[in-house]
Amino acid sequence: MIKKLIRKFLGVKDQRDPTEPLILGAAEHGIDPKLLSSNAIRVTQTLQEAGFKAFVVGGAVRDLLLGVKPKDFDIATNATPEEVKKLFRRAFIIGRRFQIVHVMFGQDLLEVTTFRGAGAANAPKDEHGRVLRDNSFGPQHEDAMRRDFTINAMYYDPATQEVLDYHGGIADIRDKILRIIGQPEARYREDPVRMLRVVRFAAKLQFTIEPTTREPIPVMAPLIDNVPAARVFDEMLKLLMSGHALACLQQLRKEGLHHGLLPLLDVVLEQPIGMKFVTLALESTDNRVKAGKGVSPGFLFASLLWHQVVEKWTAYRAAGESPIPALHLAADDVLDSQTEQLALQRRIASDMRDIWSMQPRFERRNGKTPYKLLEHPRFRAGYDFLLLRCESGEIEMELGEWWTAFYEGDATEREHLVVAANSAPAGAKRKRAPRRAPRNKGAGAEAESAPSEE
Ligand code: ATP
Ligand code: MG
Repeated sequence: MIKKLIRKFLGVKDQRDPTEPLILGAAEHGIDPKLLSSNAIRVTQTLQEAGFKAFVVGGAVRDLLLGVKPKDFDIATNATPEEVKKLFRRAFIIGRRFQIVHVMFGQDLLEVTTFRGAGAANAPKDEHGRVLRDNSFGPQHEDAMRRDFTINAMYYDPATQEVLDYHGGIADIRDKILRIIGQPEARYREDPVRMLRVVRFAAKLQFTIEPTTREPIPVMAPLIDNVPAARVFDEMLKLLMSGHALACLQQLRKEGLHHGLLPLLDVVLEQPIGMKFVTLALESTDNRVKAGKGVSPGFLFASLLWHQVVEKWTAYRAAGESPIPALHLAADDVLDSQTEQLALQRRIASDMRDIWSMQPRFERRNGKTPYKLLEHPRFRAGYDFLLLRCESGEIEMELGEWWTAFYEGDATEREHLVVAANSAPAGAKRKRAPRRAPRNKGAGAEAESAPSEE
């Protein structure tokens, strides 16, 4: 007890002892227990009642301390994966590199991890020092040491409402500093993906990257090439779907991480023509995420790579292909070049292809054709994509406006629209189309003043 009191008075200095956490009570950390999910409490309680230690850990604690409702809850415990599995009806041990247990309640999934030991030194590594597999368990303070950033290495016990802080995470949250735990070079060597995580968290939280955390990144960036493509892709997806994609990409560029990292990023960040389109696409994705709406990775990647498709599409047409086959050839080329390095999952790639190949079909507004397109299972995504093209100045606003009216209209309005589209001269169509703002994402309203870049 006295030791605990002294620790509190010593504050920051004492936090340097990595085996003894700073313990903060509810009044000190100010976490609102209402932000906790009932299932997270259920899991920690079940584990604790079975005699184990159990805490909410990582990003959820960070978010709780920032007053943000966590999007998911990770649990850390001293129970082994097998011991965890036995306590829950729907629990599955998954993972190779790090074994974890997925505990399911309905649709809700909680990840339960056993405290990791500091045995990384003996873990199998590749020739560059990257840890390949590590399932050695250990005491809680070693688990804290193994985590990436000070702000991600705190534990919250819903029962006592105490926060355990091993590495000065509370102070860093208050000062808005992103600091890696341990020696930065060694930590990036063990797992180069941590460099991408630096970028993601700094951009998402708007934290300053502590200088020694930041310095080695440009030099060590090439180590990311040795990480399996699927893992880089997962982290990139988190980055792009973080609600701060635009800020993250700017930060990647600032840290010198965008070059050669992913072919997709080179394309995205270095194409002057597509920049307006990409910026609009990322803004609208960020807005959707912030508004709690779903975002489809297929739509996102279709947007990021669209201008590459357009370029090739134009080239195939110039070579004499007719528009639709030319578009398919262009889509194949782009997807082939990306799937190799990017591990684009098949489902995502097929969504991208659907969205792209719908585009020329929006141009056809005669007879039954627009009605058929409306029935397309991915119509909504294709239509949203069409609006982005209008907003970026790539194509006439009139087409997007017509489709908005057609999509929202009743049977009679639709009939009139089809007649109007096929009888009026090009200039007159613009006036006839209802000038309602497209109802998707609210971004369309300013679109008309957007200058064309092409
Ligand atoms: P988010 O809110 O974006 O999910 P998060 O911090 O929860 O952020 P996760 O990728 O879900 O991020 O990881 C959960 C926790 O696991 C982290 O907070 C961190 O403690 C630890 N962790 C994740 N990835 C690494 C890594 N590459 N190296 C060390 N620790 C990691
Ligand atoms: Mg998380």
